[in-house]
Amino acid sequence: MLSFDDKLHNRVKEMQENALYRTLRTMEAASRSARIVDGEKKIIFSSNDYLGLANDKRLIHATIEALQQFGVGSSGSRLTTGNTYWHEKLEKKIATFKQTEAARLFSSGYLANIGVLSALAEAEDVILSDQYNHASIIDGCRLSKAKTCIYRHVDMEDLERKLAATTKYKQRFIVTDGVFSMDGSIAPLDRMMELADHYHAYVIVDDAHATGVLGQSGRGTSAYFGIVPDVVIGTCSKAIGTEGGFVAGSSTLVDFLMNYARTFIFQTALSPAICAATYTAIELIEQDASRREHLHYNIRKVKEGLNDMGYAVKGDHTAIIPVIIGEQQLALEFAKELEEKGIYAPAIRPPTVPNGESRIRLTVTASHSMKEIDDVLHAFYIIGKKWGVLR
Ligand code: PMP
Repeated sequence: MLSFDDKLHNRVKEMQENALYRTLRTMEAASRSARIVDGEKKIIFSSNDYLGLANDKRLIHATIEALQQFGVGSSGSRLTTGNTYWHEKLEKKIATFKQTEAARLFSSGYLANIGVLSALAEAEDVILSDQYNHASIIDGCRLSKAKTCIYRHVDMEDLERKLAATTKYKQRFIVTDGVFSMDGSIAPLDRMMELADHYHAYVIVDDAHATGVLGQSGRGTSAYFGIVPDVVIGTCSKAIGTEGGFVAGSSTLVDFLMNYARTFIFQTALSPAICAATYTAIELIEQDASRREHLHYNIRKVKEGLNDMGYAVKGDHTAIIPVIIGEQQLALEFAKELEEKGIYAPAIRPPTVPNGESRIRLTVTASHSMKEIDDVLHAFYIIGKKWGVLR
C-alpha cells in the first residue's frame, strides 16, 4: 500500500512528466527593472509593478512613518482591534480614485474576489463568468452557492445567448477581468453593460491589471469605457506597487460586504504601514501621469518590435504582452534561453492557457529603459529565428 507521501509524490511526478511542474526562484533586489535571480542579474519582464512604484522612496518613507506609529502587524480583524485611521483614510482615497461612493479594503485581491462572489450570489442565482477569468474569480464562484455558467472569452454574443437562457434565476451576475491576466485583452465592458441593462443583470469587474494603467488618471477600465459597473474589484499588488485588495461601489454594497464577506470579517486587517504606502501610491498615480505615459510608450515599442519580427502577439494595449510560442516544451525551452541571455520572463502553459498556445508572457513596466527593451527584442529575434517561431 502506498504511503501518504508516496501518493503525493506520484501526483507531483505526473506534473513533472507533463512539463507542468512548478518551482520557486529566489529573487534579490538589484536596480528597479533588474533582480538577482538565483545569484545572477536578470532584467525582469514579468513584474506586475507596472509603474515602478514598489521601490519609490515616497512609498518607503510613508511606510516607515506608519510603522513607527503603529508597529508591523495590525493585530486583529478590522471588526475587532485591527482598524486604524490609515485603513479608513485609504478606503476614502480608493473611492475617490475609482469615482465611487465608497470602498472596502481586503487583505488581497484574491480574497476580495472570493469574499464578494460568495457573499453576493445566493443559491437561486447564476454567475456568468468569462472562460479566462482569474483563478480567484473561479474560486469565488465555487464558494458561492449560485450556479456558474461559463461564456466564451470576451464573446458578447455567447454572453447574450447565456443571459437569454438563464431568465429563471433570481439574480444574474456577470463577472469578468477588466484586463485578462494571461491574455492581455480588455473586456468589452461597454457592450457588457448594455447587455446587463437589457437582461437585468449585475456587472462585477476585477480591475487588477487595469488599475493605474488604463483610463483617465489610471482609474481603470470603468474610466476607459466611461461606464459604471455595479462592483469594481482591484488589487494594490500590481501598478499600485504595494499589496492588498479592494472593492469599490455604492455605500450600501460596502456596508453589506462588511457584514457578509467572510474574507473581510474573519481576516486580520492589512498592516497600517501598507495602507499608508498604498495611500501615497494612489496619490502619485492621480497627480503624475508621466509614469503611465512612459509605460504606454514602452508597451508600444515592445509590441511593435515583436509584430515587426513576425511574432503572434496577443492582447490589447495593456502591460501584459503574451507572445505565442506553441507547444509547452518549446515555450519552456524559449524561456530558458531568454534567461541565459539575462532576461526573466516565464513560459505560461496549459492548463492556464489552451493547448498549442503556450506562450512567453512579457509584462512591460515604466521602469524598463530603452536599452532593456532593445535587449529583449534582440533576444526574441535570435531565439525565435533559431526555433522557427517567426512567421
Ligand atoms: N485578479 C487578477 C486578474 C489577478 O491577476 C490577480 C493576481 N494575480 C488577482 C486577482 C489577485 O490579486 P492579489 O495578488 O492581490 O491577491
